[in-house]
Amino acid sequence: MSEAASYSVRDGIAVVTMNNPPVNGLGSVLRPGIMDGIKKAGADPAVKALVIIGSAKAFSGGADIREFNTPKMGVPPSLPEINDAQDACAKPMIAAIGGFALGGGLELALGCHYRVALPKSQLGLPEVKLGLLPGSGGTQRLPRLVGAAQAVQMMTTGNSVPAEKALGLGLVDEIVTGDLLEGALSFARKIVSGKKGPRRIRDMTVRVDGEPKAFFEKARAGVGKASRGFPAPLEIVACVEAAVNKPFDEGRKEERQRFQKLVEGNESKAMRHMFFAERQTTKIPDVPEDTPVRPIKSAAVIGAGTMGGGIAMNFANAGIPVSMMDVTEEAVSRGFQKIKDNYASTVSKGRLTQEEMDKRISLIKTTTRLEDARDADIVIEAVFERMDVKQDMFRKLDAVMKPGAILATNTSTLDVNAIAAVTKRPQDVIGTHFFSPANVMRLLEVVRGAKTAKDVLATTMKLGKTIKKVPVVSGVCDGFIGNRMLEKYGQQSLFLIDEGCSPQQVDAAAWKWGMAMGPLAMGDMAGLDIGWEIRKRRYLERPNFVYSKVGDRIAELGRYGQKTGKGWYRYAAGSRTPIPDPEVEEIIKKYRSENKIKTRPISDEEIVERLIYALVNEAARILEEGIALRASDIDMVYLSGYGFPPYRGGPMFYADTVGLKNVLAAIQRFQSGYQGAVWKPAPLLVKLANEGRKFNE
Ligand code: NAD
Repeated sequence: MSEAASYSVRDGIAVVTMNNPPVNGLGSVLRPGIMDGIKKAGADPAVKALVIIGSAKAFSGGADIREFNTPKMGVPPSLPEINDAQDACAKPMIAAIGGFALGGGLELALGCHYRVALPKSQLGLPEVKLGLLPGSGGTQRLPRLVGAAQAVQMMTTGNSVPAEKALGLGLVDEIVTGDLLEGALSFARKIVSGKKGPRRIRDMTVRVDGEPKAFFEKARAGVGKASRGFPAPLEIVACVEAAVNKPFDEGRKEERQRFQKLVEGNESKAMRHMFFAERQTTKIPDVPEDTPVRPIKSAAVIGAGTMGGGIAMNFANAGIPVSMMDVTEEAVSRGFQKIKDNYASTVSKGRLTQEEMDKRISLIKTTTRLEDARDADIVIEAVFERMDVKQDMFRKLDAVMKPGAILATNTSTLDVNAIAAVTKRPQDVIGTHFFSPANVMRLLEVVRGAKTAKDVLATTMKLGKTIKKVPVVSGVCDGFIGNRMLEKYGQQSLFLIDEGCSPQQVDAAAWKWGMAMGPLAMGDMAGLDIGWEIRKRRYLERPNFVYSKVGDRIAELGRYGQKTGKGWYRYAAGSRTPIPDPEVEEIIKKYRSENKIKTRPISDEEIVERLIYALVNEAARILEEGIALRASDIDMVYLSGYGFPPYRGGPMFYADTVGLKNVLAAIQRFQSGYQGAVWKPAPLLVKLANEGRKFNE
């Protein structure tokens, strides 16, 4: 028997204990042990029943992700083979679930004949979150136990259910309140003395509410709408339908085929890439994982505006006391009121308790005195985006803050090194670029200055995780990773309009491809004045960065987007739904004729290529310059901060799936098109394309 699983017999009941930390992943070291235990228990006449148990914290988290894409995944026995042995076992088998039983972990538990669980346990099949479906009988066994509707709900959302709910659903047979093993043994004794024997899920039939055909039509319609671009949810519905209409073994066969199709598809590859990419971002080559970090027990935020308030909420949500400072009493109370309104709205939606809201609010203190920030372990500056204002603030912070405090700036465009340079402690200065709304958006670009100390970087990355962000390291450059790429994307969106597209055509093509919203609608949401201000600055700073001036024509009329009710679109009062506006059409027409631009019909395919390859080409430069540590970090920036579709895996992953040779060929084609001079292929892209390589290798 392998070390990862131990076998013992207690009063005629065999116990297989899984011990493969941290989550009892069903890896190559654990599977053989489970199989041996099942066989031993089956062969020993003294054994009357079998309990499979993990730790109190983890029954099993499913497949061992450390073995993904390694030969170890294929080491026998496979989980389906274990399931077959469970079905073949003539003695009752009980899963004792502590902590969580997820994915393959729950499929193992579903292979058992009974399930008991600790009250706080969670049970679920989250495969859909990796673009997959439960491939070891989960789609066939779960509906037989909980009914078709509940099974579709659980597997298409991937959300787990707590033990109490699982009990009501029949997924769990008993809740154990004391020691898990003792509870499971006593349950096993009850089964044995009641002569209940094995109860194989495969022999049950699926409960369907109403007529099956109508049920599945409705399920497909609902799931299909919610899962734009993701094939897995509909495949799951099809498997559940097979569980209803076909014998178990045929349903299993269909599950296997559909699983295989998903595994080989780009969508699930993209989502698995995303899963690993997220775990990579905190790995920094020259900052070892054991770098000591500074304790962060309190925080301060300077500026109680849009960003400051959202940033303060992040700390309060994580239980870290935070003080929020602004210049006037009025400004701080306005900022604080917005925070309270924000929490209250979450409470009214039932997503937060009043008690929790009160607790969070009590962690936020407001002040107009900078000195009150003095003792904070980290201070984040979120004042106006002007170098003189920021430098002045950092001089003051340098004078006020206790030694060892981290001084962070939320600047979105300014040079972090120039801000650090006005202090006597540039090693303690770092950029923390939050995205709006800062309490919601997961992305956090952590900007490493030339002099930022390694422990300051390590501490800030760890803090990013603590406040539930996706922290990504960026070097110092204009726009950092995300906005620097976005500028090229925005540039192309305007050129497309010059050449004949309507804003709605550009947006619809981007949306259909999977973006959360198109570039023009996004501009309207962010405020067109912001982009306009940046362009005005660029006209002076970088005269050879060409923009279409059609965007300026819109902004010059005071059409700033949603906040003024008009931008690239019209908005009805209080609504965020963009309505195409004939006035805009006129403005664009006039601009084209004044500039003698010849229009032509442009396909959706070209729109998407020009938008996305503009991102990719700039990203290649960012990678080559070392601004980003790795291609997958760039993918995470777009996936967590810019509404990039998860099933495309991020711009770099997407380019890899298209083939860099093809991306390069398209860019070369664009070079001879409208404003072709902006399409200089990035040297790294050319190199990798010529070598037949990928960004994410
Ligand atoms: P804002 O105008 O909403 O808020 C700025 C606040 O700072 C105001 O309340 C102002 O009174 C206060 N302030 C100005 N000078 C101050 C001083 N000397 N001391 C104390 N408080 C002072 O601006 P915002 O949108 O919250 O942006 C703040 C920072 O965040 C900027 O650097 C901006 O570039 C950056 N940022 C903004 C966004 C966004 O989408 N709004 C996104 C990322 C980063």
